[in-house]
Amino acid sequence: MSEKAHINIDKLIELGSFEVTASEKEQFKAELAEFLEYARVINGAPQHLPPASHAVDKEQLLREDVVKPRPDHADLLANAPALQGTSYLVPPLAGSTGTAEEKSAPASAAGTGAYEVVIGLEVHAQLNTLSKLFCSCPVGFGSEPNASTCPVCTGQPGALPVLNREAVTMAIMAGLAMNCNINRRSVFARKNYFYPDLPKAYQISQFEEPICSGGSVAVEHGGTIKNIRLNRIHMEEDAGKLVHVGAPGIWGSKASAVDYNRSSVPLVEIVTEPDIASPAEAREFMVMLRAILVSLGICDGNMEQGNLRCDANVSLRELGDTALGVKVEIKNMNSLKAIERALDHEIARLTMMKQNNLPIRQETRLWDESGQKTYSMRSKEESHDYRYFPDPDLLPLIVDDGWIESARQKLPPMPLERKIRYQRDFSFTEPEARLFMINPAYADFFEKTLARYDNPRTLANWLFSELLSHEDDFENMHLSPEDFAAFLKKIDSGEISGRLGKDILRRAFAGKKGLVEIIEEEGLKQVTDRGAIEEAVDSVIRANPEQAAEYRNGKTKVLGWFVGEVMKATKGKASPVVVNEVLREKLK
Ligand code: ADP
Ligand code: ZN
Ligand code: MG
Repeated sequence: MSEKAHINIDKLIELGSFEVTASEKEQFKAELAEFLEYARVINGAPQHLPPASHAVDKEQLLREDVVKPRPDHADLLANAPALQGTSYLVPPLAGSTGTAEEKSAPASAAGTGAYEVVIGLEVHAQLNTLSKLFCSCPVGFGSEPNASTCPVCTGQPGALPVLNREAVTMAIMAGLAMNCNINRRSVFARKNYFYPDLPKAYQISQFEEPICSGGSVAVEHGGTIKNIRLNRIHMEEDAGKLVHVGAPGIWGSKASAVDYNRSSVPLVEIVTEPDIASPAEAREFMVMLRAILVSLGICDGNMEQGNLRCDANVSLRELGDTALGVKVEIKNMNSLKAIERALDHEIARLTMMKQNNLPIRQETRLWDESGQKTYSMRSKEESHDYRYFPDPDLLPLIVDDGWIESARQKLPPMPLERKIRYQRDFSFTEPEARLFMINPAYADFFEKTLARYDNPRTLANWLFSELLSHEDDFENMHLSPEDFAAFLKKIDSGEISGRLGKDILRRAFAGKKGLVEIIEEEGLKQVTDRGAIEEAVDSVIRANPEQAAEYRNGKTKVLGWFVGEVMKATKGKASPVVVNEVLREKLK
């Protein structure tokens, strides 16, 4: 306090042309002195200190030794399920059937009418690594419950996390594909909360310093391309899984077991800005995001299996307002359709609330797939409730240019570019090109086959009309592009008829065999030899005199039936063109 600045208060008052009383002048002088003193202290503070995230009162906080009444036991149990015979009666969850206010409000007019819809998504994608994020346990299906666990992922005291390099590379690839800034330094933080599937009672995540910031995803919707901005992509570990025995949820189950196989499986969380304007646009964003992640080969993108999960935040505001409205978060949607429906439902509910001037609470709601509605799960917690702090067991993650460049080398063509290119180069229709866009595995198969069989139109026709009816999991398809190319060439040259080709294809899928393999094994070749076909036609006509008479009496429709019979007799090898010719001749 010794070097307090000298304040010439009279000069200041004169400069500002203030009219003040004597006591106001004293007060002004005192406040200004205090302010300057703060400035002096701050100027003298060391520059490298990071700002504190929580302002805490400097006084010690101590509590008197007083016992306060506990919450009433009956109140605590009010929401517990009641046993009825052998099953449990589930109480309505808070707000699940609507608060009294909600219930008494008149139903809203259909549509959102006067309000603008604002949506932001938080998407969790499971990374395709072999091992977990912080330990070497295997990631994957099929293992016995709790078989893929170790001291680290079950939170044993003293066990230390070690970061998986490949997971970081995948997160960088995701960031590059979505035009993010890749942060050279990022920090893993502890997000603290209790749940039985989280044995450490904290999740290792990234908070203030994520690996990727900003970015955007181009989404094609309604014929135009819109850039949805991203806030960030951060890395985090998954939690374990509760398994309720004998019931879909905890209520009514006889016991709940925990499986820690999923504990510490690597995830990236992709957070959008509130840029999405409708449920359909949200769905389209997810379609595009999934296509990008699957193209990158870093995520399987299967929503039903939960390796791609989406939480949706939605709010309404008056048209023309710039401030955001109070948002509601919806969880538990495990398909694209569910995302769209849940948002539709929630928008209708929010509209009704606004039209009736009911207060909208910030809360987390769950989508109930069977009831097709959302219900309240909890009032929304704030991030400070989680007491995030940097995990002292992990050093800041430092990513250098070399790492980023090597990740960049691995980037495949992006889905939207691919779609535009297919429409341009191969004259595919928009729906065809879109199928390739949203199913990168089709496109990979297509391109590999095209390298050996240069007819994109015929190839696409066979792919869409035949291959897809036998197999939609192209990633695990048993046919090789080489085999498929050789097969199509045989059809083009007339060696195999189209009809026989379809039959070979069907059998190849049934027996998990190769196409050329079947053709060679069975000596299949189209018979164009007229003599052999004439013989077959003669014997079919001889065996079916009635149908032959019908044809001769003018019922020429039976010709198709005859063709079928001859094809059967020749085991599909006869050239249908020649069979038609010969039949017409002989039936004259
Ligand atoms: P929180 O701290 O509650 O998680 P964030 O600011 O981190 O909220 O945002 C989470 C997600 O919600 C982001 O995708 C963001 O775009 C979206 N969001 C934020 N505010 C709103 C709002 N008012 N309406 C709709 N979405 C919002
Ligand atoms: Zn482990
Ligand atoms: Mg958040």
